[in-house]
Amino acid sequence: MTAGSRYEQLRSRIVARESSGSVAEMPEHELQSLWFSGAFGREFKTTDGRSVRIVQFGIWNHEAGPDFAEAAVSVDGGPVERGHIELDPDARDWERHGHATNPAYDHVVLHVFFDRGEAEAFARTSGHRLIPQVRLSIAMVDDPPVPQPEAKPGRCVGPLRNLPESKVRDVLRDAALFRMRRKGAALLRIEEIHGADEMLFQALSGTLGYKSNKLPFTLLAQRLPLKLLRSVQGDAPALLFGVAGFLDQKDLAPFDSPTRVYLRGLWERWWPRRAEFERLTIPRPLWKMSGQRPMNHPQRRLAALAQLVAHWPRIRALRAACVSDAIADFCAELRDDYWDFHYTVTSKPAAKRMALIGETRVTEMLANVFFPLALAVSPERWDEFSRLPASLTNARVEIAALRLFGDSPLAGELLKRTAFQQGLLQVYEDFCQRDASDCQRCLFPEQLSNW
Ligand code: SF4
Repeated sequence: MTAGSRYEQLRSRIVARESSGSVAEMPEHELQSLWFSGAFGREFKTTDGRSVRIVQFGIWNHEAGPDFAEAAVSVDGGPVERGHIELDPDARDWERHGHATNPAYDHVVLHVFFDRGEAEAFARTSGHRLIPQVRLSIAMVDDPPVPQPEAKPGRCVGPLRNLPESKVRDVLRDAALFRMRRKGAALLRIEEIHGADEMLFQALSGTLGYKSNKLPFTLLAQRLPLKLLRSVQGDAPALLFGVAGFLDQKDLAPFDSPTRVYLRGLWERWWPRRAEFERLTIPRPLWKMSGQRPMNHPQRRLAALAQLVAHWPRIRALRAACVSDAIADFCAELRDDYWDFHYTVTSKPAAKRMALIGETRVTEMLANVFFPLALAVSPERWDEFSRLPASLTNARVEIAALRLFGDSPLAGELLKRTAFQQGLLQVYEDFCQRDASDCQRCLFPEQLSNW
């Protein structure tokens, strides 16, 4: 049996395949981001039964018009057609939003949607060309969004307490192996679509936003590809801050002098490029600015992302070697004259220098990006990963520990290792987050006794 496969078997017997997440609850940007990452796949059936392959997912469109430009598709194995792809939550949006009469949509080669009404809704161009349509379902995504369960001890506290500790460790270890394998596969899928550098950039960006700002950070890296940011050299921080929507201060007078100098510098570089990139701006409501430690403010994280862009050749080498101390040392060395001493643009300067990417973030990068990629090619590196100490826990890990272990001291022990935290999160996502019966119908406790 391969690593993680025992947990996979247990999971497949009892995890309902249907997602409780609904498209109606998801922002359109999230659907677009998932689509662009290949999370729905790249081979589909059109609504009229033809096969379609996405040859290129293209780029986020800077212009008014469809969502993605420079895409390419092949229908029924025929010649590659290049053009735009439009994604709508509802097929009827095509007509509702006037795309059928808008020449900007004349080069759409594929219309993807999720819902539709009773009647069929076609997509046609202003020249009456019928556009192939693909209906997507959120259930196609491996990790659909699911609600957060209550923070209280669950029904498996008793069974887990009665299991020998070695068995508990074994279950969590296998769940963690399964989790890392899936993360690695998802990253390699993005690598196949967008190339190794863009995949790594998108993944690290998402980790900098984790968890409350993962979506806007992922969108930023998808909309401003690394290749573009590397090509504009010194303008990269201004493009990142501008497209993030963080350069909308009309009046710099209320800021202190270093902040005024800093913002003016960004603004002067953003201004000449604003018209070109403005359409890609991340909508303000997607950002969560409050409820996190001041050091984790999204603007500080964005400055860290700009530093990753500036030092990209080192990041590429760090991925190849995946040595945790070297990655931590690299992050500790990153400097930013302004953000080394500022929590936000409105806070007073700090007396001591603060790390741009702290220990907790490094651990997240190791667990979510570097090790999943390394383990995908060298599974024997698991022992190394399993020894990795965990930095601080987060709310999800703590809720998971409380639900599975209650006040058992074993939980505290297990949470000291990143690998056990990952195993715990996998069980939490597979069972707790999919359970709608307040533990009553969850089969995890019963399955444990057969482990
Ligand atoms: S939902 Fe299942 S796995 Fe989660 S605490 Fe309840 S019994 Fe345990």
